[in-house]
Amino acid sequence: HDEQAAAKAAAATADSGAPTIFDKIINKEIPSSIVYEDEKVLAFRDINPQAPVHVLVIPKLRNGLTELAKAEGRHGEILGQLLYAAKIVAEKEGILDGFRVVINSGPTACQSVYHLHLHVLGGRQMNWPPG
Ligand code: IMP
Repeated sequence: HDEQAAAKAAAATADSGAPTIFDKIINKEIPSSIVYEDEKVLAFRDINPQAPVHVLVIPKLRNGLTELAKAEGRHGEILGQLLYAAKIVAEKEGILDGFRVVINSGPTACQSVYHLHLHVLGGRQMNWPPG
């Protein structure tokens, strides 16, 4: 359970509004394995995959969406686009028969990067309840 301890430690910091590593990924300053991209949304493989398919779906413009807890009515359109992009990712990855979409919001949920992101997980039997 070292990994769980590490996740909790990484998540110990709350939202500061500071730029995150995802900005560097969006700007292609650091490499990522991109699965899907359009004008508004970027999807790339998680560097520490928790399933055979583990893709992160993020808005290219954070626009105050550091965490889902900060969502407002004005974010409705991008939130819908992110969820639809998760389906496109699942389709591209061949896991439409069964996949999971997760959003960790806030330290108690072990969020570690404060740029809203959906985890798309699949390619194995997923269990319930999650940890
Ligand atoms: P969170 O814990 O829900 O905030 O998820 C953040 C995710 O970002 C974790 O699953 C990390 O493995 C992943 N991650 C952090 N840095 C990178 C990176 O540079 N490339 C790809 N994934 C990353």
